[in-house]
Amino acid sequence: MIPVSRPFISELEISLVTDAVRSTWVSSIGPYMDQFEHMFAEFCGVKHAVAVSNGTVGLHLALVALGIGTGDEVIIPDLTFVATANAVRVSGAVPVFADVCRDTYCIDPAAIRRLLTPKTRAIMPVHLYGHPANMPVILEIARSNGLVVIEDAAEAHGAAIGETRTGTFGHCGVFSFYGNKIITTGEGGAITTNDDGLNVRLRYLRDHAMSKDIRYWHTEVGFNYRMTNLQAALGVAQLKQVDQFLNARAEILDRYRKKLEPAGIECNPVVDARPVNWLVTAVVDGLSRAGRDAAMGAMREAEVDSRPFFYPMSMLPMYQSERRPVAWQLSESGFNLPTFVGMTRQQIDLVCEQFLKAVGR
Ligand SMILES: *Cc1c(COP(=O)(O)O)cnc(C)c1O
Repeated sequence: MIPVSRPFISELEISLVTDAVRSTWVSSIGPYMDQFEHMFAEFCGVKHAVAVSNGTVGLHLALVALGIGTGDEVIIPDLTFVATANAVRVSGAVPVFADVCRDTYCIDPAAIRRLLTPKTRAIMPVHLYGHPANMPVILEIARSNGLVVIEDAAEAHGAAIGETRTGTFGHCGVFSFYGNKIITTGEGGAITTNDDGLNVRLRYLRDHAMSKDIRYWHTEVGFNYRMTNLQAALGVAQLKQVDQFLNARAEILDRYRKKLEPAGIECNPVVDARPVNWLVTAVVDGLSRAGRDAAMGAMREAEVDSRPFFYPMSMLPMYQSERRPVAWQLSESGFNLPTFVGMTRQQIDLVCEQFLKAVGR
């Protein structure tokens, strides 16, 4: 079976993780922690990176640190992984779902404007499948309405608009290092920010909100959202290779494009930005959800795995609300095709052949 995703683990990862284990620094204190945070901040082009246990708690920690909670509304895209909505709900705030742009699959600034209310406190754009959301316009909306911007950059390590990388536009950005993301720490995440005060507050809340001066004195409810030195060792090894990973992913996408676009398949968008290829996307206009799922079944028979686009948040039982037409339509007709470092040309060609057969092109 050709998987949709597979982490790239080399002797470097094995040797750094082994070194971390041998050092006995297995919890959240240790040299790899600091190294990982510094390397990741440098990679993004940002002052601070705060490592956390995973991307979902990173989103939650960012919301809490910025004072967003009960009584507040946070505008997020309808088409995203459920973690974006769940982090808002867990904070006590209400996620409000905006439709996405047909051309980028990311949150539509015009839809954000229509959803603003006196309770709106924040916008949480998602750089879906590696394509940056329209940050210039989103930042302008935020500025003129006094809103916080938290970027969900879990799928977009290294993506940029001009020279500015994702995760550095808003008050903060949140990344995931889950096993299928562009770099992995097993489970893990990081919050990036240029704000010194926010950096201090994130670190404080990450560690049970313990006083810096008086041990075991806590003045508010904090969390244990720490990453471990073992995970950070894996992350350091991955960060040493991230440029090669991004190049390899770009080459994989090029080959997919050459095979699929002539057959009328829409691959990953590129609109006024420098996206990265987290997952190859293939949208087949006019396909129904049933048709799409049947095609995925046919591919599986041929030992090729694939994934459907996310369900829109407004379709899920706990968030059921008004249909957002673009998100709903993309969700029905979108596939993610196998994308991983080390994928061979023959594998890509086989995936394309089986995919085109399955969708009747
Ligand atoms: C993966 C992902 C997350 C959550 O990251 P975890 O590390 O798995 O908790 C959040 N948002 C988006 C868009 C993601 O793809």
